[in-house]
Amino acid sequence: MPASTLHDVLQRIENAIPAGSGSRPRLLAVSKTRPADDIAAIAAQGQCAFGENYVQEAAGKIATLAGTGLEWHLIGHLQSNKARQAAGLFDWVQTVDRNKLVQALATHRGAGRAPLNVLVQVNIDDEASKHGCQPGDVEALATAIAAHPNLALRGLMAIPAPHPDEARRRDAFRRMKALFDALALRHPQVDTLSMGMSDDLELAIAEGATMVRVGTALFGARRPAGDSA
Ligand SMILES: *Cc1c(COP(=O)(O)O)cnc(C)c1O
Repeated sequence: MPASTLHDVLQRIENAIPAGSGSRPRLLAVSKTRPADDIAAIAAQGQCAFGENYVQEAAGKIATLAGTGLEWHLIGHLQSNKARQAAGLFDWVQTVDRNKLVQALATHRGAGRAPLNVLVQVNIDDEASKHGCQPGDVEALATAIAAHPNLALRGLMAIPAPHPDEARRRDAFRRMKALFDALALRHPQVDTLSMGMSDDLELAIAEGATMVRVGTALFGARRPAGDSA
């Protein structure tokens, strides 16, 4: 892995920040299918937040890298029967899209631990194949999350459709930003809008992303065998 890769991605983020914006979006390094050694190599360059798609796959890496101070985000769909394990392993769950999951995570997040940071995942392009709640469901879910002291409502996450037309992708990011601003009016603790990946992080940041999730641009192309979503 070229040592300049993390630097290059951070530079892309820096260059994408709109003029006049005071804050720098966070980088979440998406490490699905990557071995713990690859994660350790990026961490050694100063990256601390990593995203994983599968609870089981993450469990092994989190154990291997325990004690290194990394922050772990679940960014893949979470089945309710894995909520207990996820609530114990992760610092953030970005894919909360139904009330049953809110209740399960709240039940299983140990009271002695820091609150579990939670993002509501929105199916912003209303794709039948995608997880995420409808825009109209965001407020009820946010209120349910905010009612639990061991969950911290932090904001919204989306995976817009990879539409070839840039204007369509921009529009999805804009609709997410409008939802995010409306949510922040009612829940002032909200500070995270997670959207944008390797191919479109500039567009997402231009439209207000505060966190981008980047895999391929950091680690190289994934092996097809491990690439199911
Ligand atoms: C894999 C994945 C990413 C990273 O995608 P890249 O195109 O490799 O940067 C971001 N978000 C989610 C939810 C993912 O599953």
